Amino acid sequence: MQNHDFIHVKTNNVLAGLAVSFEDAERLLFTKDIGTLAQCANTITRAFNANKVDVEMLLNAKSGTCPENCSFCSQSSFYDSRINKYPLLPTEIILQRAQIVLPTEVILQRAQIAKEGGASSFCQVCAYRAPPEKEFLQICKTIVEIKNKVDIDINVSLGFMTHARAGKLKSLGVKRYNHNLEAAESYFSKICKTHDFADRMKTAQIVKDEGLELCCGGIIGMGETPQQRLELGFSIASLRPEEVPVNILVAQQGTPLAQIPQIAGDDAIRTIAVWRFLMPKTILKIAGGRELHLKDNGRLALRAGANGLITGGYLTIGGNSPDKDLQMIHEIGLHT
Ligand code: SF4
Repeated sequence: MQNHDFIHVKTNNVLAGLAVSFEDAERLLFTKDIGTLAQCANTITRAFNANKVDVEMLLNAKSGTCPENCSFCSQSSFYDSRINKYPLLPTEIILQRAQIVLPTEVILQRAQIAKEGGASSFCQVCAYRAPPEKEFLQICKTIVEIKNKVDIDINVSLGFMTHARAGKLKSLGVKRYNHNLEAAESYFSKICKTHDFADRMKTAQIVKDEGLELCCGGIIGMGETPQQRLELGFSIASLRPEEVPVNILVAQQGTPLAQIPQIAGDDAIRTIAVWRFLMPKTILKIAGGRELHLKDNGRLALRAGANGLITGGYLTIGGNSPDKDLQMIHEIGLHT
């Protein structure tokens, strides 16, 4: 069967609710007909998610000094990455941050800004293996404050979870919990030695068990093979996450991956498109690295399987302003 026909057959299968095998996904990933692949991934996206783009803003609410050694991460205490490090932000204290669109803010203000900027959700991210109890309780208090004062979906990312803590977050009204698998199981030991792939799967499963929505993605461009990108996609799909952030490595000075060759933009688009075949209904969100690696800031990705983006910058690096992203979304005929 010709590539063009093969891609259309697999698209119709996905639209009919059938799963894609690893072998089929491999053929899709390596097709020379990237135009048809992107177009068909877009057809699947529109069929299950219409024209809506999920826009999210992040706040790095506790930066750096993480005891884990993820080799891509500038927040690990193992590496001298010269980022802006700070302890958990008190709810009402002004924070000076150089790398975010707005230099001064408090968590509440940031949530309000997210809402006014067109974001439908706001995610507090903290660099922990898991928060100490006192800080977990402080985070809970902040969640209640935001819930009472800002009409926005609240997501959090706090590292490893227990059933009790995930249940508590659910009871406070947290919508979604982020815990990425980061890399394929077969590649994981190359990027982290302080915990393993099974640890990450376990927290993702706890999140599901406690009734929170799961946001679970990974990072591509860390030296893995294309097949390992598929392997990661299949592992993520097995968890049935509501949201899947696709990060493209931005090599950070001081980390072991600082000199890793960049992934080609086309390979990132192929990965996004094929992950859409594996997860037809999820929010597939272009995240860190899109401004650097996708020269159009994500326009093509949003027409090739993605239906969400992070706006307003990331955890340790800046990004597009919400205005710029919203304009781009509207220019390509989509909406928030
Ligand atoms: S656990 Fe998270 S914050 Fe800590 S080093 Fe790994 S990726 Fe970075």
